[in-house]
Amino acid sequence: MNIARVIVDVPSQNTNRPFDYGIPERFSGVVQPGVRVIIPFGPRKIMGYVVSLTDHSDFDKVRDIVDVLDLTPILTKELLQIGKWLSNQTLSYYISCLQVMLPQVLKAKYRKELWITTEEELPEELEKVFAGRDVIDYEEFQQSNLSYQKLRTMIEDGWIDVHYEVKSRETKRTTTMVEPQKDAIELEESLVDLSKQANKQRIVIQYFLEHEQPVPKKQLLQTLHTTAATIKPLIEKGILREYKQEVLRDPYGHREFERTQPFTLTEEQQAAIEPVLASIEDNSHDVFLLHGVTGSGKTEVYLQSIQQVIDRDQEAIMLVPEIALTPQMVERFKGRFGSKVAVLHSALSAGEKYDEWRKIQRQEVQVVVGARSAIFAPFTNIGIIIIDEEHESSYKQEDRTRYHARDVAIERGKIHTCPVMLGSATPALETYARAVKGNYQLLTLSKRMNDAMMPKAELVDMREELHEGNRSMFSRQLKENIEDRIAKGEQIVLFLNRRGYATFVMCRDCGHVKECPHCDIALTYHRRQERLKCHYCSHEEPMPAQCPECESKTIRYFGTGTQKIEEALQQLIPEARVIRMDVDTTRRKGSHERLLQQFGEKKADILLGTQMIAKGLDFANVTLVGVLAADSLLNLPDFRASEKTFQLLTQVSGRAGRHQLPGEVIIQTYTPEHYSIQLSSQFNYEAFFAEEMKLRKAFHYPPYYFLTLFTVSHPKQLKVQEVTQKIVQFMGQRLTEGADVLGPTPSALTRINDRYRYQCMVKYKKEPEQRKLVQRILHYYEDEMKQENGLQITVDFQPYQLM
Ligand code: ADP
Ligand code: ZN
Ligand code: ZN
Repeated sequence: MNIARVIVDVPSQNTNRPFDYGIPERFSGVVQPGVRVIIPFGPRKIMGYVVSLTDHSDFDKVRDIVDVLDLTPILTKELLQIGKWLSNQTLSYYISCLQVMLPQVLKAKYRKELWITTEEELPEELEKVFAGRDVIDYEEFQQSNLSYQKLRTMIEDGWIDVHYEVKSRETKRTTTMVEPQKDAIELEESLVDLSKQANKQRIVIQYFLEHEQPVPKKQLLQTLHTTAATIKPLIEKGILREYKQEVLRDPYGHREFERTQPFTLTEEQQAAIEPVLASIEDNSHDVFLLHGVTGSGKTEVYLQSIQQVIDRDQEAIMLVPEIALTPQMVERFKGRFGSKVAVLHSALSAGEKYDEWRKIQRQEVQVVVGARSAIFAPFTNIGIIIIDEEHESSYKQEDRTRYHARDVAIERGKIHTCPVMLGSATPALETYARAVKGNYQLLTLSKRMNDAMMPKAELVDMREELHEGNRSMFSRQLKENIEDRIAKGEQIVLFLNRRGYATFVMCRDCGHVKECPHCDIALTYHRRQERLKCHYCSHEEPMPAQCPECESKTIRYFGTGTQKIEEALQQLIPEARVIRMDVDTTRRKGSHERLLQQFGEKKADILLGTQMIAKGLDFANVTLVGVLAADSLLNLPDFRASEKTFQLLTQVSGRAGRHQLPGEVIIQTYTPEHYSIQLSSQFNYEAFFAEEMKLRKAFHYPPYYFLTLFTVSHPKQLKVQEVTQKIVQFMGQRLTEGADVLGPTPSALTRINDRYRYQCMVKYKKEPEQRKLVQRILHYYEDEMKQENGLQITVDFQPYQLM
């Protein structure tokens, strides 16, 4: 095995396959699949991933690997396989698929260091390199001519550790530990030998007679009210020893999590969990859909399934949407499984993420709770994969490698032969359809916990409010109800869907709307800085004093942000104490947590917010939920608009009356007759499913049809039209008659960042040749796509963003 097959870090069609490289003697044993290497590529030296080893190459001359970046693989064999699969599924480059699975730190060029983690004497050659230091730059080792194999053995034996120097201000990453170097009898003996004056030393030894464990030096000194000077002679005498230990940055380390015990499951929960436990026991790959109304105890089913996996010494991946990865959620998992849990989400710094990832890689944890990318956790013995709120569109990655975490979960489940559990109160239509067909096993929780009733939901027709002269954004009914709850000391959640509510600037005289000069979209008014900003590119400009079209001075901002609602609310009900939660108030780290805590401690009557508050919150005292404008999502140009509206309204309503107090929901809408608003207010998922399926069938949308979306962009509109037209023709001529090829159509956002955007949509049932055809198109335009600011063609085989 002296040839390594390497995927090089050059994302292009021509390099999208392994290249052969020789393994110099010095690296033998270290170069393995999953390790990154530096290789010569043309005139350059670049990075690559070893994907396999072989002893023979079809090429006469292969060049040699120049350097090895990892001494232990950073990708498991299984993940290499997943990478290959991902590349076929999404038609992205293999290299991009490998990189999407790794933490940021491993993708960039970070400084690497070698740390001594032992007190033993190092072998002579190594000692020469370290020359008395505890830490050296990896580069020093590389220049030393020492055998990599030797270093790797040292790492495997735990003598040396590789650290990535992450540029961050985070403090201490090591701590000095102290432990006895003698057994109890010898310690007793050393007490006798101490001089009478050495009282402090005596106390230290006595401490270790009682605690045989290593203890952080700082803590020891504090506990015994002494100083380092006391310990020094004991170390010199060989009674104690000190050593450095890495402290993994633990983002939740400062918090104590109260340990929770499993609940006795209800009959419904028991019935739901049984097939899952059986599947775990049998190591069988089944996909379950846990359909349970909000508050029905799905999370407890997850927790107990994971417990079973832990008991079998296996590992569990638990995905939750980024937005639902609230401290409350993390607490439930940390509370049950303690330090066996790693948490991965985007609010962590690169360093924190890497540390959590390392806990997984080193098998220090058995559970990972995380957002989308946690699906690539480098576990090797997975016992279950769970996706909560499986309908969430954030599970789909929207750039480069356009994967859906649900698909990856099922693929990994196949490889590990373990169950996959999808959970939701409002499953994606595609998922529920598969469950109905029997491809997935349907498990149902139809009742809320503690006999809590589903809240009573009422629709308020805002058109009527307007007719009766109420121009405010609060209906009279909502106002009365808010006042009533405040009087009773109960709490209220008010939900605003941000999308439909961006604040834009319009001239009252001529109706001119200020748009971004680079994108076809209205600019958003940011009040604090008195500036207009584009949310698609970085353009910003000052708020104009007069209309650029007609010079009228009556140019104003319209629409309603949360801030404006808050003001209106304060005017309407001055006694209300309001906590506003939106991007502005939660920008700072930890502020999200703090606001929720304040609300939990009843320091406010009303929690006002956007999508952010729709999920996962569980406050006993909330008895009223108000939805300010239910239909703002309905009008988006997206075939999933009704589904998204139904999901969102159900989620939000689910925040009310989860415990003893009964809940009520008031939904304000301009289209109360719409089926997704009607049925969500009745909490009737099945009826919604049936209704929506009819439309999907009639209009050839998923789950009846598959979609492929091409988006073409270029600075010149003519060019975009022309290329899209060609794609439409090419596909139209070659696909079967059953496929609809639509386009070219300008995208709903026709221009972003001075680039025009057109699309072609293919709807089909079965097109085995499709991927090959797409590949031909991409190949054909490859050169043009390489040019800076040139042509761009993206292809999405499971589009969620249709704009
Ligand atoms: P879901 O995830 O379906 O929204 P949760 O898991 O949050 O529902 O459950 C709602 C509440 O019921 C939580 O406070 C949870 O602790 C509690 N709960 C869940 N299962 C049980 C049980 N078997 N017995 C008692 N309480 C339970
Ligand atoms: Zn004007
Ligand atoms: Zn813009």
